[in-house]
Amino acid sequence: MAKQKTRRLAIVLGDQLNADSALFDDFDQQCDVIWMAEAPAESTHVWTHKARIALFLSAMRHFRDQRQTDGYRVDYRQMDDDRIAETLGEELQAAVKRLKPESLAMVHAGEWRVQQQMEQAADDAGLPLEVLPDRHFYATPEEFAEHAKGRKQLRLEYFYRELRKKHGVLLEEDEEPTGGKWNYDADNRGTFGKKGPGELPEPPTFLSHGPTQEVLELVEDRFASHPGSLENFNWPTTPGQAERALDEFIEHRLPSFGDYQDALWTDQPFLYHALLASSLNLKLLNPRDVVAKAEQAYRSGHAPLNSVEGFIRQILGWREYVRGVYWLHMPGYVDRNALQARHPLPDFYWTGDTDMHCLSQAIGQTLEHGYAHHIQRLMVTGLFALMLGVDPKEVHEWYLAVYVDAVEWVELPNSLGMAQYADGGVMASKPYCATGKYIQRMSNYCGGCRYNPAKATGEDACPFTTLYWDFLARNADELKGNNRMALQLKNVERKDADELAAIRERADEIRGALAPA
Ligand code: FAD
Ligand code: SF4
Repeated sequence: MAKQKTRRLAIVLGDQLNADSALFDDFDQQCDVIWMAEAPAESTHVWTHKARIALFLSAMRHFRDQRQTDGYRVDYRQMDDDRIAETLGEELQAAVKRLKPESLAMVHAGEWRVQQQMEQAADDAGLPLEVLPDRHFYATPEEFAEHAKGRKQLRLEYFYRELRKKHGVLLEEDEEPTGGKWNYDADNRGTFGKKGPGELPEPPTFLSHGPTQEVLELVEDRFASHPGSLENFNWPTTPGQAERALDEFIEHRLPSFGDYQDALWTDQPFLYHALLASSLNLKLLNPRDVVAKAEQAYRSGHAPLNSVEGFIRQILGWREYVRGVYWLHMPGYVDRNALQARHPLPDFYWTGDTDMHCLSQAIGQTLEHGYAHHIQRLMVTGLFALMLGVDPKEVHEWYLAVYVDAVEWVELPNSLGMAQYADGGVMASKPYCATGKYIQRMSNYCGGCRYNPAKATGEDACPFTTLYWDFLARNADELKGNNRMALQLKNVERKDADELAAIRERADEIRGALAPA
């Protein structure tokens, strides 16, 4: 049989697994070929959690199989193929030599580094590369740049309202927000009190067979020294599974999502959270479907407005907003370090081995599942790194490595910007800093801890509380121009010199104990 000619090589990256992408609009099954590769460097450029590697590879293999069933030609190189090159760029060059396409096409990558690699490979091959817009998102980077133009400070709220109006989400006929308010954030901060969460709905389970089983074995074998466990791997790897995850969330957890969005509880990794970020980020789910189903749950009386608005704000609001920030500020954003933080990331971030109960819980479940919810990321692991003064690039690389939903466009603004304030206020109007009392209020972690959140000095002082005062004292000059920090800085000024010296001494001890040997 004569070898088919390749007109166009259509690049599909590991987080572009949507069959309705612009890449397939005028795809000619006779002469166009889908190109995909499991380049090892994508799993090693940060020290990636085994579950994150397995999820990407399994979802890619399922996508390949489905496309082949649908009649597409797919050039796919698996990681266990001896011929595989290390990087995506090298693999693409090899595919170009093999298939001799006339041109290349791709949907814009989600990560600046990968986009550069693809453009460089096309350049080196002397082929035109058509870069198509990513229609998965509500807003384009250009739309965000337009929104940002002339604004001294960016704030989620304004962009979120623009998108609500433009897309008619939770909007009444008179263009007013459903329920009369744009934002029910104040009703999203409930705690479980002393009695705890009671019986929680179980998230759905997904069987690991076919490509998932193959990939779990491959990852266990090839990435044995990487962090995390595959024992509890239970993430959707196909659009069908992702839809089931969405439906079960809407049915069982969305009604209480709003009340307990910020709450934490020992040995309860998921609570009422959606567990949908990885499915959204790999594009197994379309955010429009997610938002529409959530809104329908409100309109039908199944879920209250504080839950539905709170959930939609995360997706139509934060998710779109952080993507805008990423593309507006890359490539320089990743090198920002507004507070000149230089401490290395403590080793226990990779093991969970610490006597601080909140951290051992948040990191422990991260290693077990590749998952922690937002407040664990922001107000436990993120908060501790911020106040300890960890180099924000190390913090960013950790978050990119350990979560199954981590893709740089969403992870970087959240970690380096929101959690570490390393962008000097682009993402957050002030640093998220707090004493251990915040964690005590939102969880039952402190009850099982050897430290006392009320104390800043002494043997049983909570390290969060010590580091909070030390953080404010150390960064007072940098933060004093920020009105929103005025009260917190005033409270530092009220402390007498001896107390501040004792806090500094204790903070130095903590830093010393967490420095590399
Ligand atoms: P839920 O809490 O149920 O929220 C619903 C959905 O809203 C999520 O699935 C997600 O798609 C979206 N969402 C919620 N908060 C945010 C946010 N701040 N930014 C963007 N989208 C949001 N999210 C990622 O998708 N990938 C990351 O790599 C990532 N890294 C983070 C790092 C730090 C330091 C912080 C503070 C947050 C990070 N987030 C990240 C945002 C958020 O924590 C996760 O989206 C969420 O915890 C995922 O769990 P879930 O699906 O159960 O979300
Ligand atoms: Fe965390 Fe401090 Fe509470 Fe212990 S006392 S769980 S270290 S906040």
